[in-house]
This record gives sequence, C-alpha cells and structure tokens, in this order.
Amino acid sequence: MTTERQNATGRIVAAQGNLMTVEFDGIVRQNEVTFIKTEGQRLKGEVIEISGNLAKVQVFELTRGITCGDTVEFDGDLLTVELGPGLLKSIYDGLQNPLELVAEQAGYFLPRGVYLIPLSRTAKWDFTPTAKVGDVVEKADYLGTVPEGVVTHRIMVPFTFIGKGKVKSIAPAGSYTIEHEIAVIEDEHGVAHKVTMFQRWPAKFPIRFGQRILPVEQLTTACRIIDGAFPVAKGGTFCTPGPFGAGKTVLQHQISKYAHIQVVVVVACGERAGEVVELLKEFPELDDPATGRKLIDRTCIICNTSSMPVAARESSVYIGTTIAEYYRQMGIDCLMLADSTSRWAQALREMSGRLEEIPGEEAFPAYLSSRISELYERAGVLKLKNDSTGSLTIGGAVSPAGGNFEEPVTQSTLAVVGCFLGLSRGRSDARRFPAVDPLISWSKYNDRFAEFGDETTRRRIEIAKKAQKVLFAADEIGKKMSVVGEEGIGRDDMVTFLKGEFYDAVFLQQNAFDKVDTATDIARQTEQLELVEMALDAELSFDSHDSARRFFLTLQDKVIQWNYTAKNDAAYADRKETVLKTLKGHTHG
Ligand code: ADP
Ligand code: MG
Repeated sequence: MTTERQNATGRIVAAQGNLMTVEFDGIVRQNEVTFIKTEGQRLKGEVIEISGNLAKVQVFELTRGITCGDTVEFDGDLLTVELGPGLLKSIYDGLQNPLELVAEQAGYFLPRGVYLIPLSRTAKWDFTPTAKVGDVVEKADYLGTVPEGVVTHRIMVPFTFIGKGKVKSIAPAGSYTIEHEIAVIEDEHGVAHKVTMFQRWPAKFPIRFGQRILPVEQLTTACRIIDGAFPVAKGGTFCTPGPFGAGKTVLQHQISKYAHIQVVVVVACGERAGEVVELLKEFPELDDPATGRKLIDRTCIICNTSSMPVAARESSVYIGTTIAEYYRQMGIDCLMLADSTSRWAQALREMSGRLEEIPGEEAFPAYLSSRISELYERAGVLKLKNDSTGSLTIGGAVSPAGGNFEEPVTQSTLAVVGCFLGLSRGRSDARRFPAVDPLISWSKYNDRFAEFGDETTRRRIEIAKKAQKVLFAADEIGKKMSVVGEEGIGRDDMVTFLKGEFYDAVFLQQNAFDKVDTATDIARQTEQLELVEMALDAELSFDSHDSARRFFLTLQDKVIQWNYTAKNDAAYADRKETVLKTLKGHTHG
C-alpha cells in the first residue's frame, strides 16, 4: 500500500546543533524520515521544513562527526509506529527501540545509528479469525483476535487501506508470527493486499475511526482527591502542573498503577533517568489487584530521559499516544500519562530557535498552544462500528520553572484540559500528599457526572461540594488566625477550621506507603465521604479551643486507623463503629 516513487537523496550543506540543512534531488515530504550517513552509521532524522530543494532535518541522535557533504537518504515514510501484538509489557525509547533488546544486544547503551525492531518477529500469537472469506471490510474492521495478556487484541484491516475490500482468504485459527499472512483483501480495483498481524502508522496522525462521543463516565483513579473532588472522565483530559519535587511523578506512578483501566501507556519524557529506572525496576514486580496478573501486562512504557537526545522527546509523546489510540480502536479503555510535557515543549522551543522562527512568549514557538491542544484532542471516547466504545484518557504533568503557573506551557494546557490538578509547594512542604491543592484545582467533569451519573454519584459530588465550601471557609479562618492568633477567633470559626482540616486529613490526603490507603475504590470512597459529611454536619460544642482541637485530632486518628484497615479485615466494622461512637458522643440533639 505504499506509493511507488523513487526516494530522494541529498547532502548536508549546513549544520546547526541537531538541525541539518539538506540539499536534495527528487520529491521530499514534510515529516519524512531521513538517514544521514556519517562515519559508516545511518543516523535517523525527520524533515521538519521544506523550501525549494532545501530541507531542514532534525536529527534524533548525537550529531558528533556529521559534516557538510554527508549523504542523506530520504526514506519515503513518515515517522511511524509499529502496531501489533507485543506492545504491552514492552519498554521503548523515544524511537520505539525496545530497551530490553538494547540491553541484551548492546549492554544498556544503544550505539547511535542502531535501530531495533519494535515487535518480535519470532514470537507466536494465537490467532482466531472473526472475519470470513467474502466479507466486505474497510480500514480498522476486525479480522480476528489474539489474546495478549489481559486484553483481547483485535487484528484490524490496516488503517491505510482505502475504500471497501473483500476478504479473499483468512488464516484458520492457529499460532503465527506477526509477519505471517493472516488474510488477503482485494480492494475496489481488484488489487490483492496481504495482511499481517502488525501494521505501521505515522505517529503524528490520530488513529480515530469511529464517532466521537461525549465522555460521561468517570475514570476511577483510586486517588481520593481526584475521584472525590476533581474527577476525571474516561476519554477526558487532565494535567498535573507543579513545582520541582512537589510529587508529580509519584502521583503519575500511583495513577498508572491503580487506575481502573485496561491499558496504560506511560511516557517518561525528559525527566531524570533515576526515576525511570525506579519505574522499570518496580513495575514488573507489581501485582494488578484487578486481574491478579502483573501490572506490566497491561502497560507499555516509553522512556526518553534527560540523558537521551532532546529531539526524540517529541516523538516519544506521539509514539505513546499512537499506541494508546491503537488499543482504543479495539474497544479498550486506555490511559496515556506523559511526564513531563514541559520537557517536550522545551524540545519544540529548541528546534524553533534553530529554525529562526519568530518566537512567542518566553521564546516558545507561536504554535506551542496549538501543538498542546492537538495532543490533548487525541483523547476521547469513540463509538466503534460494532457499537462498542473505546476511550483514551490523557494526563500530562507540567513542570513550570519555579512552579509559576503563569507561563506558556501551563497556560496553554489549562486552556484545553477538562481537569486541573495543581500541585503546590505549600502542600508538599507540609507533607500533605498527594500535594494537589484543593484551593486551586478544578474539574469540568463534576457537573457532567452529576447530570449523567447515578444516585450515588450525585451524592458523592454533593458531599464533596459541601466539603469544598468548608475547606475555603477554613482557609480564610486559617489566614485570619495567622494574624490574630488562635484566641482571636470565635469558637464557631475554630470548629469550622478544624472541620476543614479534618476533611483534608482523612479524605484528601492519602498515604502512598500504606498498602490499603494507597488506593481506594469508589464504593469505599463513598463510605468515607458519608462519614466526612456526618462530621461536617455535626452540631458540636466545646468549652475551649483546645478541647475542640483534641476532639478532632482523636476523631481524625480513628478515621485514619479505619482508612488503613482492609475491607476484608475483621477489624473493619469495629473501627468504623469506633469512629461513629466518638462522633456521636459529642453531638447534640
Ligand atoms: P516531582 O515529579 O514533582 O518533581 P516527585 O514525584 O519526584 O516530584 O516527588 C518528590 C518527593 O516527594 C518524593 O521523592 C517523595 O519523597 C515525596 N512524595 C511525593 N508524593 C508523595 C506521596 N504521595 N507520599 C509521600 N511522599 C511523597
Ligand atoms: Mg518528576
């Protein structure tokens, strides 16, 4: 299905950083992949600008040794992602080199110019056909299934297939490699196309064959401050901006581990290698409570750390998104997490500078906000042909310098996402984790869930809203208290302040190191919120500020004890009863 044309060739006439100016003969496409022949190696790059017979090429590798006059081969293809069984459990770099193979073959450091095949050509997969000879099909239609870990992988008509086609042959159920011909499809012009279990797709183009529908279902992240106060929709978008060290990476890892979702793609983009090593060491060991298998079975990791070439940061984000979209097309709920989109934006800025484009705010290119919105727009719920749906939720960490949210990457992101989870230095310094600040965060999905959700959902949202009001009031009182001292405020204000602190301590904060508290399902969150509501509504009276404080600290302690108790633990009911008793003992009427 590739168009027949001679690929262009060229030679380097100028070099600036990793941006090469190449004079070429023939036809060159925007975003076409190129290979620069230097010192006996072929270094991968991508065309980012064409004018006349000159192309600007960004090189994804260290450019040492490249000289003017070096030959450049144009590949004819755009930067593509290989899609097929075997993506899950894989760990790739920003050019989809499988890092495990890299480690085996090259001892952890991939020499430049070496590109490994992303999907194994020797692994066999159990294929079961679902299409029959004579079926009329089009791109993205299902031809068969392959069990891949926890998901049913659908083998689809290649997305590049044009028009309608007729299935001429289909392989019987059996075990095949991904290169095996599993079907032949004849197109409208009578041309036969061989179909295998894998295909390639250009990373910068969305895979979106179906009807986009409004995301109305909540994604359970198992993180209370998100699910309870600032929820995210399946197929929606969210961002977690925050200063260095506030806990963005820890929060993303928590979500990738505990979110109730079928497939997770984690993109570690431009962050420190040490963190990624932790992720890679930890992940294969972790059990998935939902399936009893390993978490890595449902996960694909793309990592392009700060020590890897900057240009490949850009591709890593697109590769991750494309892989997640591919699974969405199978009717699967997917989540793509990128840490951090600021590093990706910095790569754009660097390249824009070399292209001598007119800079926008803080020297970011003028198209920064459109690139950011294009990325988040790839999220969404798709209604597929067979009436099933698939979704892609996208969450991006943003790391603005000094934690100042008034900068272009944060602002452009806030303009497009449905949920803003802002981490603050104040909260992380106070070790209130997750350090998502409830006074600045918001979610546009709350109203939608209230409209489309069931009775319990509405109740949860109602309680969280009530608690949010108390939180704001408590914050005001807290500020006043820091000026006039505790004795300068009235007893009622003191109680409101303590109620706000209580809600924060027992619900919004969550202990990532306690194996029960680290992840809370929705049913338990509802139970916790109902208890919070009882405490917020309680008419309490105290004879001193101190006795009020003592009471709330005791109550808080008891609730946290209960939070740490597993549901199937014999002490669960007792500990809840103790909380209720403590509360009742102090309530009037
Ligand atoms: P960032 O990615 O924002 O720079 P990290 O996610 O690496 O920050 O977090 C920095 C540190 O903060 C962690 O090493 C850990 O000590 C602490 N931290 C973050 N989140 C939590 C949490 N949920 N519970 C306990 N400690 C946390
Ligand atoms: Mg981080």
